[in-house]
Amino acid sequence: MGEKTFRGIPVSAGVCRGKIVVLDRARPDIVQRQLTDEDLPREIKRLEAALAQTRTQITEIQRKVMAAMGAQEGSIFDAHLLALEDRTLLDEVIRMIQEQRVNAEHAFHTIAERYAASLAAVEDDYLRERAADMRDVAGRVLNNLLGLEPEAELRYLNEPCIIISHDLTPCNTAQLDRRMVLGFATDVGSKTSHTAIMARSMRIPAVVGLKDASRQLATGQSVLLDGHNGLLIVSPSDQTLGEYGQFMIKQATWRQRLHDLLAEPSITLDGHRVPLHANIEQAADVEQVTANGAEGVGLFRTEYLFLKRDRLPDEEQQYQSYREAAAILKPRPVVIRTLDAGGDKFLAHMQMPTELNPFLGWRAIRISLQERDIFRAQLRAILRASAEGNVQVMYPMISGLDELKQANALLEEYKAELRRERVPFDEHLQVGAMIETPSAAVVADSLAKRVNFFSIGTNDLIQYSLAVDRMNAKIAHLYEPTHPAIIRLIKTTVDAAHQQGIRVSVCGEMGGDPVLTPLLLGLGVDELSAAPVLVPSVKFLIRRLKMSEARELAAFALNCESAEAILAGCQELTRQIAPSLFEHL
Ligand code: PEP
Ligand code: MG
Repeated sequence: MGEKTFRGIPVSAGVCRGKIVVLDRARPDIVQRQLTDEDLPREIKRLEAALAQTRTQITEIQRKVMAAMGAQEGSIFDAHLLALEDRTLLDEVIRMIQEQRVNAEHAFHTIAERYAASLAAVEDDYLRERAADMRDVAGRVLNNLLGLEPEAELRYLNEPCIIISHDLTPCNTAQLDRRMVLGFATDVGSKTSHTAIMARSMRIPAVVGLKDASRQLATGQSVLLDGHNGLLIVSPSDQTLGEYGQFMIKQATWRQRLHDLLAEPSITLDGHRVPLHANIEQAADVEQVTANGAEGVGLFRTEYLFLKRDRLPDEEQQYQSYREAAAILKPRPVVIRTLDAGGDKFLAHMQMPTELNPFLGWRAIRISLQERDIFRAQLRAILRASAEGNVQVMYPMISGLDELKQANALLEEYKAELRRERVPFDEHLQVGAMIETPSAAVVADSLAKRVNFFSIGTNDLIQYSLAVDRMNAKIAHLYEPTHPAIIRLIKTTVDAAHQQGIRVSVCGEMGGDPVLTPLLLGLGVDELSAAPVLVPSVKFLIRRLKMSEARELAAFALNCESAEAILAGCQELTRQIAPSLFEHL
């Protein structure tokens, strides 16, 4: 077979080569078919065959996992086998097929989902986990009924490979065995989806928005994945491989040049210091913070801790994770963001409603303020960790003063608890609000009186202000960080913060784009935080910039009516002051 290239959106730089594993080809909708009486015995046989096939598949996976990872890891599948043998459930499915004369897929899907939903709703952790088992097993049975290939076991890949999938949720991505995944490519997605953000933090190449690539590809094919240019090249020719060899040598030389700046300060040519921090998802990422020359952590996205597990992490588990990061980086700051579940991040072990507009729904601080036990465990863990390093806390998706006041009141309540229990914590713990909704930016003057800092989450600020879904590849062209509305909202936020004497950071993806660094600094942003791999380029740019140039650019942008013209202005300045960097972007 000759070379074939798929073009998508580059979301995490780097190039890798390997065999692909195709996951989730987007299962067709489960439709209801009406059967006749004569069809029923055959339908029940079909169901039984699918159940038997599923049992064989699970036993086979269990055997492989036990051989590779030991009996304990393999025993996880006992629960799946039990779910498969649940007689009450199966009787109910058969009854539904017979009484309503419907197809096996529809009956099995309906009853299994009803079971899983009721298990997920109970207060007991053990039973809640069984909901995830039930959904996992139901997916396998449905694949067999529909005659689809079984999906690869994300958690138990046995050789390094490139993952191809219709979509990858942050939950799937958290399950990936980092040692076995060379890179990934998906049909849908965008640069600021959480899955793309996770790829950057895992430092693996990733390309999204490949339309229907997953349908056209098969497990085992050899590909080259180019996360710089957004290409997936199937069966690359010798010539292509040779060209990529050259390209990678150039990239390595450039990375070395950036690496030489690690110990150098982040300071402009005219002496303006810009604290440069990194975004992380787990304590283990801390190593990458210093390895890339960042001064601390500007955003610890704590969702990974929740997504990676089969159950909610308790206070102690969270404390250990936060403490570890804080202790390693002490006295440098670690800004821990409270749970930002919802949107595209569904926790399998928490009952999360199916929503029409999840990004406008039960998300982030809204969940924390309602699920007090979860918020309490997390804030207590953060407070306890603050005794062992420079920990700061921030709340995601604040949309008005009321939420901030409520969150602060709860924080005070938990501080009082710890004082009574004589558990140490930092009495001067700094508290920040993320500014990522237009309403928060507009009332930033009120919010600024109640926090120690702001951190602008541009990923969400852009999607909410421009009404452009950050996940949707089809409207990715409308997702414009340099839109005049965004520039003005950032300016409003900065002015309100400085009026109150508090600092402003940008921790969304804009903070990691060196082309936009002068604009942000010119608008008055004090600090930046980005994925560790992006920090060196931003520092490179800062060290070639004069604040006078940045201010001039910002003044132009504030008066400009076109996103395109503002972006062109940013690119022009970058090209002028850092031509070698511009060449490698
Ligand atoms: C943001 O919205 O810019 C942000 C940093 O938060 P997240 O990307 O995790 O939503
Ligand atoms: Mg956000």
